Amino acid sequence: MISLDDARQHILAAVAPLEPRSVALADARGLVLARDVVAAEMVPPFANTAMDGYAVRAADTAGASDDAPATLQVVGELAAGVAPSVAVGPGEAIRIMTGAPVPAGADAVVMVERTRSSGASVDILQAAQSGDHVRPAGGDLEVGQRVFDAGTVLTPAHLGVLASLDVGAVQCHPRPRVGVCSTGDELVAHGPLAPGMIRDSNRPMLLAVLQESGYEPVDYGIARDDEAVLTETITRAVDECDALLTSGAVSMGDYDFVKVVLERLAGQRAASTYAWMQIAIKPAKPLAFATIGGVPVFGLPGNPVSSRVSFELLARPALRRLSGRADVVDPPVRAIARSPFRRRTDGRVHFDRVVVSYEDGGYVCERAGFQASNVLSGMAAATGLAILPDGDGVPAGAAVDVLLL
Ligand code: AMP
Ligand code: MG
Repeated sequence: MISLDDARQHILAAVAPLEPRSVALADARGLVLARDVVAAEMVPPFANTAMDGYAVRAADTAGASDDAPATLQVVGELAAGVAPSVAVGPGEAIRIMTGAPVPAGADAVVMVERTRSSGASVDILQAAQSGDHVRPAGGDLEVGQRVFDAGTVLTPAHLGVLASLDVGAVQCHPRPRVGVCSTGDELVAHGPLAPGMIRDSNRPMLLAVLQESGYEPVDYGIARDDEAVLTETITRAVDECDALLTSGAVSMGDYDFVKVVLERLAGQRAASTYAWMQIAIKPAKPLAFATIGGVPVFGLPGNPVSSRVSFELLARPALRRLSGRADVVDPPVRAIARSPFRRRTDGRVHFDRVVVSYEDGGYVCERAGFQASNVLSGMAAATGLAILPDGDGVPAGAAVDVLLL
């Protein structure tokens, strides 16, 4: 057996970020910038008011108070979206609405709550300082400023900023297209079960987890335990996708052909590697990993819990690297065990399914039902994976590291 770290290092060393391309803003959420973004215009594009009120010359309001207001002539009105046509002269004010450009002559805005209007004139009840409630041109972003660095993961707020700069497309690592295929003669998608048959749960789960993670899932259905069928399916998938997940047929059974087919395909194509690993973790000990013509293929184990855990620990970091992300592994959180985790002495790190909650200023966790690698309902209840090293177990009340799902 090899350690989880060694298995991950092996996989990550074989995977590189996808070639950047120009992506429209509407398709870019969650993608990783491949180049710095530099502002070609300033934000905001002109000085404008942060308040509804009156644009004034601050000097005209010196000493103003409720008892001794400064009375100014109102010479105009400015709504947002209107270009100023008159300037504010000495002793004058312009009624102004939030977002409207600050007119020439004015250097401050007095909020309407601190004024008293009497039609043609307005009483200012408070002395303004130059710059009050004025949002200067370029106050957020200056022309030439580096706005986002290469490597930034684009969130909705990033897209808003890019839109404010009239950036319509960005150079990004594209969203990885990831194929999913189940293997097994016993699998049916739905409907009545003939004797010995079960329903395919891995494929819908893996397609959904890919979609949830911001990748583009591609469904390759169920492949029978047949070398020719598997070869055809895997060949087609690696030609059409940036990565492929298969499940099943990677352990020690007589019909575990994924290993055989991946090894043969890797031998036939340039830029290929193949490894079958036994990793010191439970669940998800076996993994077949290949790069076929540079496309990573994860032969995940068949038991549904193992499939998902293997995806989280080994495939997800690689998909993140494909997508250009530098942070490929999320750090665990510390949680207090509500119930004890028993002693283990099999030389493996156990990833128990747990329900994590936040209570009294910290995380607590509790086992999520029966912990067998075929019991997917426990996985469905879980919100985390407790990391339990080989050893004496963890008593209730002690801290454990937990990967949040
Ligand atoms: P295998 O490694 O192919 O022998 O599969 C291990 C176990 O997982 C067997 O009990 C399979 O029936 C089961 N299994 C494999 N693939 C799936 C799947 N897609 N959905 C549900 N169970 C599966
Ligand atoms: Mg099988």
